[in-house]
Amino acid sequence: MKTQVKALVVGGGAVGTSIAYHLARAGWDDVMLLERDELTSGSTWHAAGLLPYFNMSYATTHIHDYSIKFYKTLEEETGLNAGFAVVGNLRMAQTQERMDEYMLYASTAETCGVPYEFMTPDEIKAKWPLIRTEDLKGALYHQTDGYINPADVTMAMAKGARQRGVMIERKWQADAFHWNGEAWEVTATKMVEKGGNLVPSDEQVVITAEHVVTASGNHAQRTAQMLGIKMPAIPVEHQFIVMEQDPELVKYRAEGNAEHPVIRDADAQSYVREERGGWILGVYEKNAPARFEHGVPDSFRADLFQLDLERIEDQYMAMIHRVPSCEESGLKDDFNGPICYTPDGNPLVGPAPGLDNMWLAEGFSFGITAAGGTGYYLAQMMVEGEAEIDMASLDPKRYGDWMTTEYAARKNEECYEHVYILHHPDEEREACRPLRTGPAYDRQKAAGAQFGCVNGFERPNYYGPLGAPDSFDHDARSFRRGGWWQYAHDEAQAIREGVGLVDATAFTKHRISGPGATAFLDWFTTNKLPKVGRINLTYALTAAGTTRTEYTIVRLAEDDYYLVSAGAWHAYDQDYLYKAIMEKEAEFGRINEEDVTTKWGVFAIAGPKSRDVLNELVKDADPSTVLSNKRFPWLSYRDIELGMCPVRAIRVAYTGELGWELHHPIEMQNYLWDQLVKAGEKHGMKLVGARAQNWLRQEKSYRAFGTELGRDATPVEADLPRFVDLSKDFHGKAAMEKIGVRSTCVTVLIDGPDDADPWGREALYHGDTRVGRLTSGGYSVAFGKSIGMGYVQPDLAVPGTKLQVRMFDKLWQAEIVSDSPYDPKNEVIRKDG
Ligand SMILES: Cc1cc2nc3c(=O)[nH]c(=O)nc-3n(C[C@H](O)[C@H](O)[C@H](O)COP(=O)(O)OP(=O)(O)OC[C@H]3O[C@@H](n4cnc5c(N)ncnc54)[C@H](O)[C@@H]3O)c2cc1C
Repeated sequence: MKTQVKALVVGGGAVGTSIAYHLARAGWDDVMLLERDELTSGSTWHAAGLLPYFNMSYATTHIHDYSIKFYKTLEEETGLNAGFAVVGNLRMAQTQERMDEYMLYASTAETCGVPYEFMTPDEIKAKWPLIRTEDLKGALYHQTDGYINPADVTMAMAKGARQRGVMIERKWQADAFHWNGEAWEVTATKMVEKGGNLVPSDEQVVITAEHVVTASGNHAQRTAQMLGIKMPAIPVEHQFIVMEQDPELVKYRAEGNAEHPVIRDADAQSYVREERGGWILGVYEKNAPARFEHGVPDSFRADLFQLDLERIEDQYMAMIHRVPSCEESGLKDDFNGPICYTPDGNPLVGPAPGLDNMWLAEGFSFGITAAGGTGYYLAQMMVEGEAEIDMASLDPKRYGDWMTTEYAARKNEECYEHVYILHHPDEEREACRPLRTGPAYDRQKAAGAQFGCVNGFERPNYYGPLGAPDSFDHDARSFRRGGWWQYAHDEAQAIREGVGLVDATAFTKHRISGPGATAFLDWFTTNKLPKVGRINLTYALTAAGTTRTEYTIVRLAEDDYYLVSAGAWHAYDQDYLYKAIMEKEAEFGRINEEDVTTKWGVFAIAGPKSRDVLNELVKDADPSTVLSNKRFPWLSYRDIELGMCPVRAIRVAYTGELGWELHHPIEMQNYLWDQLVKAGEKHGMKLVGARAQNWLRQEKSYRAFGTELGRDATPVEADLPRFVDLSKDFHGKAAMEKIGVRSTCVTVLIDGPDDADPWGREALYHGDTRVGRLTSGGYSVAFGKSIGMGYVQPDLAVPGTKLQVRMFDKLWQAEIVSDSPYDPKNEVIRKDG
């Protein structure tokens, strides 16, 4: 057995095998895979093998799309048939809301080039007469997907990998990981059979590997412990049953009819597919428990749990309703296996937090579907430094250190149960909340706040009616303009016309100081560093030249900086920043880093009357001038006092109005809140949530991280050249320049439907040609119509270009407008007083 390799993959399920294959295909000729038991002996062996395209995430849809295309090529390459039945996938809707969901999903599919068609109940009946359709509104049909044999496709990938030089070592368990400064030393133990169990023997080797990938499936908690990190990957029970033959189905097929597509009855939380003249029923039911929270017992190998028929009774009855001919079929086989989940249902794919050359591919709930694409894109990240799509939504660091086993287990149960609920884009899931709250939470709640959750932290989305029932926000959700829309509208208007107060405490905040800080930040970010007392918007790039993080940098003193970045990306930003500091400290001199995220609260006050409100509170020798342009110009920072609260005030407003961010000691938050609310009363100040803020920033064409800004576009493509100082050298510059401009970020005003706005997933057309996609969407109170931001091919990124946006399966007129359609000269932001 070789003991020195370039890359070691731990885990021989569908995912690990695909990664090993793709690393070899990407040119690494020294790859080894360790499997503690046999290949496919984890969750892979008992998967139903369905390959559903359906996913609201752009990255995941790309991953699924790659898999489906890749699996079709495997037989030619390896001679092994993976049993891919391209039967199609029929998603049925019992309600108009479900059809709305499919139409929104179709937008995502379309932007990824995934084919689909809508079908009416009559069309379904004519094609598949065994399906009952009278209670259906319609369906979404994917012609190109279907199901595959999970073990066979894994074996085909394993053969392909071996043909490309990968060494696959079975019955070897990775038991310890040690980074020696240059490579990982992985202690592996030979596993042996003992009384039906798989147990460690005395035989051990240490394998030195430049890179390690873990794809340990249900063993993720053990892997996390060995690595000293946290991973919210915990399995949940998942069941499917196989029915005896259905005589009607047998007859139907004997007449020469083609196999049924996978029939998904989302409103009944189940799917049905053919299996040798009978049917398989798979369910996503309520109350499926999390398992193995503290590790998989040695006695659990390729095992199953006991079937819980009672739990799936409703779905079983719904199946009989949908396919009445199966009523008499008996139960032939059952599967209740562990299926790994994460709190948001996306796997954890990418660099492990805090560790060099350690890559995770854990927490897969659709691992058969995702394996191919995960291998492909992860190999790109490892071999080339970046994937061609932005993998941030799958990044392991989207959960911070606050995450616990209990949180992950309960959230994963919720996520499982939610697989077939309506995926409203304005959904806020309820489990494990509230957990992380700022001091003003109770005051905001009493004022009617309806909260959203950012990185586990509660943040008002909008302020609804006082005393609203607990179900208010749930009932307000929609694929169109929901019950919250009017509240957000009024809040946005208040900021444009009067004054509003937003809680932005969730922001990520770091303080970087020391003799090496200036040189480091100058290298790390794209813009000129601000002068002392000033602020700048700037970007940290990936080595591939795309946007890794957006920062507002405040220069507190010569070598002392306060960095503010997106709240949702705390651990993600911190990991990149700290790793870069560690790498560069020797070159630039000592750099101190301090995470002050939870030390500072942030309120944003904005609107033409915001200065008037602050003037009521500000303490200064000359209070009438302290907030004037002369003493406190736009894009500067000052330490001020509001009543008894010391405030680091930053003159900037994400809403594009006259305004200040008020960074304050977290322990004084309630005091400051009360002072502001009281002073604001006289000026009609409104409490404002994140939804209104998101609309307002689009009127100013302010890009948001995670939508317009990410690892698939450079700041130049995001059309932000003013924040990129090409006269200096910075990390990722050469790569950014080499990329050029593949597509350009634009703002569009849309004449859309009367009852809906885009969500930022919709396809953009120019005539009959798809030319781009929206990344943000909403409503503009300034223009009285829908607004969006997105990317189009560069030659069309010209103000005045007429485009169309696909919403609800129709094309709506849209026009590209100059950046910052509201207050293009920044006059209101700079207003003196
Ligand atoms: C009933 C059921 C039906 C399902 N149906 C579908 C479906 O239709 N479509 C779909 O896409 N997905 C489905 N899934 C989910 C799918 O099975 C998983 O997402 C997928 O198998 C995960 O693959 P994996 O490679 O990540 O993990 P696994 O298959 O669990 O593989 C992990 C491997 O790592 C090995 N390992 C762990 N730790 C170590 C170590 N320290 N050293 C060496 N080896 C180690 C394990 O032995 C195991 O073989 C289903 C799951 C269940 C339970």
